Amino acid sequence: MSPSATQSEADLAMHAGVPESQQTPANTSHTALFSLTKKTVAITGGGRGLGITLAGAVLEAGGHVACLDILPEPAAAEWAALQKTAKASGLGLSYHRADVTDEAALAGVFDEIDAESAALGAPFYGCIACAGIQQKVTALEYPQADFERIQRVNVTGAFLTAKHAARVLVKNGVRGSIVLIASMSGQVANRGLTCTAYNTSKAAVQQMCRSLAQEWGHPYGIRVNTLSPGYIRTAMTDDLLATAPELEKIWMAGALLNRLGAPEDFKAPAIFLLSPGSSFMTGADLRVDGGHCASA
Ligand code: NAP
Repeated sequence: MSPSATQSEADLAMHAGVPESQQTPANTSHTALFSLTKKTVAITGGGRGLGITLAGAVLEAGGHVACLDILPEPAAAEWAALQKTAKASGLGLSYHRADVTDEAALAGVFDEIDAESAALGAPFYGCIACAGIQQKVTALEYPQADFERIQRVNVTGAFLTAKHAARVLVKNGVRGSIVLIASMSGQVANRGLTCTAYNTSKAAVQQMCRSLAQEWGHPYGIRVNTLSPGYIRTAMTDDLLATAPELEKIWMAGALLNRLGAPEDFKAPAIFLLSPGSSFMTGADLRVDGGHCASA
């Protein structure tokens, strides 16, 4: 900014070439910064667990939601609650059965979501890539096929989700936001857990985020960030605890807030990463782990 330029001139220069609807002026209200109004967001792994909870958060932020999951049907009680919220708010909510590792099928689902979004008058704006799998096996015994399966779902699946979300955004000229669900396990090796394949996959997702952010920030204006949870009580962790109940004690030893996470703890962080409130943030990792990684 030249010494003589006013703040509004600087704002105009900053937003040159950016459609007005996609600008984030400094004086935007707090509510608008965290709003997803007139935006459609796709969520993989949206059939249960963290994904279906984040679907509720997007609806609460005023966004339309398309859930994708390999499950034939979403979890009944949670889905009924989402339908109630969507109906009360006049928002779109759809469920698509899809395997994130099947590129042709996934591309078809993103085309459907694009068409649904256009019909709703709420352009496709981004996604949360939340589908993921976990497995506890010692590294000395880890079967190659299982190791590769974890990478295929957690890494290739996240990549294909981001790729097809970005292709729709680029086609429509929308400067959207992509959130990849990684894990604190991308940065630390969880004490007591023999999950080398999973941890490797989550580190890959964090690096994928930086690479995609580097490619898509300019000229497309597409932001890509990871959200890295700590331990959350979901079906995934229930399965781990069922085979090794002693793990809970180890996990609690690192819980600086004296509790494990709940899916609801990630609603605000996910909405922040999607919404205009984080418009200057890309290629970053937001770790939300109840302090777990802060102590040895
Ligand atoms: P979850 O309850 O098992 O939910 C994951 C969903 O993804 C399931 O419905 C699962 O279906 C689905 N899925 C699996 N493979 C898929 C595929 N190929 N295509 C489409 N959908 C597929 O797990 P969660 O705890 O909510 O985890 C959600 C995300 O958070 C994962 O990426 C996980 O790694 C991450 N995370 C979880 C924790 C935690 O403590 N829970 C911590 C850090 C990060 P199936 O049931 O058929 O497998």
